Amino acid sequence: MTTTDVAARTERAATPRARGRAHRADDLAIAGLVPLSTCDWPGRLVATAFLQGCPWRCTYCHNPGLIDPRTPGVVRWDEVRDLLARRAGLLDGVVFSGGEPTRQPALVDAAREVRERGFGVGLHTSGAYPRRLAAVLPLVDWVGLDIKAPAHLYRAITRAGGATTSADAAFACLRLALDTGVDLQVRTTVDPTVLGPADVERLSRELAALGVREHVLQEVRPDGTTQEYREALAAAQG
Ligand code: SF4
Repeated sequence: MTTTDVAARTERAATPRARGRAHRADDLAIAGLVPLSTCDWPGRLVATAFLQGCPWRCTYCHNPGLIDPRTPGVVRWDEVRDLLARRAGLLDGVVFSGGEPTRQPALVDAAREVRERGFGVGLHTSGAYPRRLAAVLPLVDWVGLDIKAPAHLYRAITRAGGATTSADAAFACLRLALDTGVDLQVRTTVDPTVLGPADVERLSRELAALGVREHVLQEVRPDGTTQEYREALAAAQG
């Protein structure tokens, strides 16, 4: 399957009602806003907006309340505007996180507005929507991209789509990011219920061969996960 096929399949399902009109930043469903973060974009002081909705159901998702795309936002984009107006000269930028921020087409307009106000744009993405990532990448200064597993184990973590759907999308996003040369950090949350040390080594080798220069391994966190997952994690950790 080509990158275009994957993008078309995943993104058709994601925009049922918004076709035919522009997507404005004010349309964003924002689930939360952290006004000052030192850890969401390495080396930068940022505000982080958590966007509602994600197409995947990862084993270790510690914020499942952000998954349902029908849940309305609780923070208005105007509040982000006001924050940026107050923090000019103090903040380096805004990080869009989630959920999966590229799910919302209004992300492009929001990123453009952040840039126009003189701030940098960071993006956390799981790589679920290649075409949408391509649309916003020219407006992004730094990307933290999750590559969750070697392709053959992807679905065991994302629990979404066909055998390779989520892997195809994520690796297509990786190629897009590498091709544009955007500042990129690839992150893998090591889920020991799915990944063994050999899988992690294999993934690190594959990413290096693709041209990834910064690959960060993250320890899975049990907080916020399901009881079922916490039990599986405890068993896997022995
Ligand atoms: S991609 Fe992120 S937000 Fe979506 S289910 Fe997985 S861990 Fe949760």
